Amino acid sequence: MPKFVYDFTEGNKDLKDLLGGKGANLAEMTNLGLPVPPGFTITTEACRHYLEHATLPDGLEGEVNGHLAALEKRMGKRLGDPADPLLVSVRSGAKFSMPGMMETVLNVGLTDESVHGLAEQAGDERFAWDSYRRLIQMFGKTVLDVDGDLFEDAIEEAKEAKGTKDDADLDAGDFRALVDRFKAIVAEQAGRAFPTDPREQMDLAVKAVFDSWNAPRAILYRRQERIPVDLGTAVNVCSMVFGNMGLDSGTGVAFTRDPATGQQGVYGDYLQNAQGEDVVAGIRNTVPLTELERIDKGSYDRFLEIMETLENHYLDMCDIEFTIERGKLWMLQTRVGKRTAAAAFRIACQLLDQGLIDADEAVRRVTGAQLAQLMFPRFDESRLGDARRVTKGMNASPGAAVGKAVFSSEAAVRAAENGEDVILVRRETNPDDLSGMVAAKGVLTSRGGKTSHAAVVARGMGKTCVCGAEELDVDVKAGRFTAPGGLVVEEGEVISIDGTSGAVYLGEVPVEDSPVVQYFEGRLRAGDGDELVEAVHRVMRHADDRAALKVRANADNPEDSARARRFGARGIGLCRTEHMFLGDRRQLVEKLILAEGEEERTAALDALEPLQRGDFEGIFEAMDGLPVTIRLIDPPLHEFLPDLTELSVKVALAGDGADPQDRRLLEAVRRLHEQNPMLGLRGVRLGLVIPGLFAMQVRAIADAAARRRRDGGDPRPEIMIPLVGAVQELEATRDEAREVLAEVARSTGVDVPALIGTMIELPRAALTAGQIAEAAEFFSFGTNDLTQTTWGFSRDDVEAAFFSRYLELGIFGVSPFETLDREGVGRLVRIAAEEGRATRPGLKLGICGEHGGDPDSVHFCHEVGLDYVSCSPFRIPVARLEAGRAAI
Ligand code: ADP
Ligand code: MG
Ligand code: MG
Repeated sequence: MPKFVYDFTEGNKDLKDLLGGKGANLAEMTNLGLPVPPGFTITTEACRHYLEHATLPDGLEGEVNGHLAALEKRMGKRLGDPADPLLVSVRSGAKFSMPGMMETVLNVGLTDESVHGLAEQAGDERFAWDSYRRLIQMFGKTVLDVDGDLFEDAIEEAKEAKGTKDDADLDAGDFRALVDRFKAIVAEQAGRAFPTDPREQMDLAVKAVFDSWNAPRAILYRRQERIPVDLGTAVNVCSMVFGNMGLDSGTGVAFTRDPATGQQGVYGDYLQNAQGEDVVAGIRNTVPLTELERIDKGSYDRFLEIMETLENHYLDMCDIEFTIERGKLWMLQTRVGKRTAAAAFRIACQLLDQGLIDADEAVRRVTGAQLAQLMFPRFDESRLGDARRVTKGMNASPGAAVGKAVFSSEAAVRAAENGEDVILVRRETNPDDLSGMVAAKGVLTSRGGKTSHAAVVARGMGKTCVCGAEELDVDVKAGRFTAPGGLVVEEGEVISIDGTSGAVYLGEVPVEDSPVVQYFEGRLRAGDGDELVEAVHRVMRHADDRAALKVRANADNPEDSARARRFGARGIGLCRTEHMFLGDRRQLVEKLILAEGEEERTAALDALEPLQRGDFEGIFEAMDGLPVTIRLIDPPLHEFLPDLTELSVKVALAGDGADPQDRRLLEAVRRLHEQNPMLGLRGVRLGLVIPGLFAMQVRAIADAAARRRRDGGDPRPEIMIPLVGAVQELEATRDEAREVLAEVARSTGVDVPALIGTMIELPRAALTAGQIAEAAEFFSFGTNDLTQTTWGFSRDDVEAAFFSRYLELGIFGVSPFETLDREGVGRLVRIAAEEGRATRPGLKLGICGEHGGDPDSVHFCHEVGLDYVSCSPFRIPVARLEAGRAAI
């Protein structure tokens, strides 16, 4: 039988799967000799069993009994003992931290009897009754599902009756009265009395933590963060220490470095005479952690020591929860801290310079997603226009967000559904605001520091956030906030918030390129004094050194090609040619489609050819010396024709006087109309059905290359045939293309070699790749179409229709159009890569679907041994970084 319970002395930080992050790190700190209140962890395995079978696994109860007895022995107290009770917290803790998502119950073990024992032992009646009311409140809310506002309202009433606004003015008698009131609320709302048996309290709390894994907001958070649905949570039972035992006690949170910038120092918040979540919830105003030096120098110095121990041990920035009980410091939690993207790059380089990690590890410490965040545009303060700066809060999560102010989660969700950009403005956020935070472009709060709920969650989501803008008076009920000078901003007015500086503006502020983009563009150099740019530069250089995959761009005009090259593209992996048929050229395409007989068709093709050639020349020039893969025309021809309904109406209305050209066009549109265009006449099929079309394109490519060569350039064309399902299709088009190439070489006297290859985007192509490789000099996996055809999903139709339901049901954790589906589509890619290379060793392999810029998919491509990924120009740095990370 598996072991379901681990004492804190038994675990370690590598057991996160089993003990959850919190439990694993509590164990690690315990074993480092740091002051952690003793306790034990019930494993995620027990949770999974419970969730699956709706009953606790056999043997768990016995193990818990054993561990509890050992804990009682060690502490010299029994759980809930009336004379001198052992109290514990029952804390959730999954593998991935889910801030505020899961529930924790403190002070478990307090009862009508043991509250007196606690008061006596502590010599403090008020403390004991305060602790007891907190237990009933937390237990009522999280275990018995009582509406938390009922308790809060009761506290407000008590304060009003007393004529105060501060909890600190409530005395033992007030809390004692609140305990009675709370018990009545529980009995009324939950239909059962608050449990008076300490062990029953603990057992119910454990189950509630397990159940909270499936709470709606936990589900939402997991989906947002792509955390698998079936991990389950561990439960930590931890002996209580008390920060609410008077002014020599308190509780706090800290980071070993500034999570927004990476600067080393003392960052955190501290609250005297308080317990647990009082700090994060922003109920009372915290003081900066540096103040602790004045309040309790001994604990402060010890804390600095511990911060250093933790950094040197974890070799990373840590975040910490701690409590001081009557001058004694206790560590309640640590983990490698969440940080902004900028801080991640800076911290990686700082740790590298400190010799704590090596260059490979520095690259491992940052992600493509973080780099993408650093490429977000930011506000240009020099062009404020009508916008004005109204205040400055804390720069909690970077980015520049503009939108209408809304004051509730519901309003944010509603507006987002209508396609409106909104900024969620709250006094502070709590887990119920999650859906609004997801829907909003940015979050603005007037209270709470960098460790507040809003800040932590926004950073996790990569959402712009300004918090603690204390000059703002937020009135959520009235739907407005008041800024200094009496300026009133109503719901619906546009505001701009800068999560990088903390500035808040009324009105829309224009945005500019981020320094990191300016660096990639070559407008800003590493060494120009921007520490972040320097860090990005160092990380990118090492990633490029290590990468096995090359990164190419999807680009079909000279400007994008040039930009892609500046961003580090090593060629073009997909140059679509259909864009070259749009705009004014549409008429020429119409002529081609309507052509009757050889002559008209040739004339139409002849008119298109020089236009195409011009496009290619510009692209070859921008990508001089680098491969340019050009895909021959892919979409169905009717996409270039007018809309069937509109044209029918036009012709019908004109009656007998209708333009004969329109009639012919209408006929053609009808003829070409398809039930299922995605599976119709497109790709290689067009080339085989419409004589001269592909030949024209190949001639334009070859001519452009010859001209570039004559001008001293080094063009490297690769011709790609789309939508091949059988080698015979490819052979026919390849033979025609080769003839054209030879002909151009003869007529121009310049022989530019061009590879001819194909896209692998149909399951049949993947499954017969061994044959197809006989005729193909390269493969490029078109994973958009391959995903559509493998799943039988029409992307444009399914995503909006039912993907959210599929994600909810856990059919997939992420859309297969975003991240390549390794098991299905990926299997086809593997088969094609292996069988293709078996036929033709050294066959060049790449991917040109949108997955080419997706971090997880890039790692897959590395594993399969592709030569390159291709993605949109803006994603190139991300793909380069991930290619390096994949190789390390
Ligand atoms: P979360 O995952 O939301 O941070 P925690 O389990 O860490 O939840 O607990 C919530 C709060 O209660 C934290 O501030 C934590 O420090 C505090 N806390 C938890 N266990 C204890 C304990 N045994 N003694 C004192 N405070 C505790
Ligand atoms: Mg915590
Ligand atoms: Mg395709």
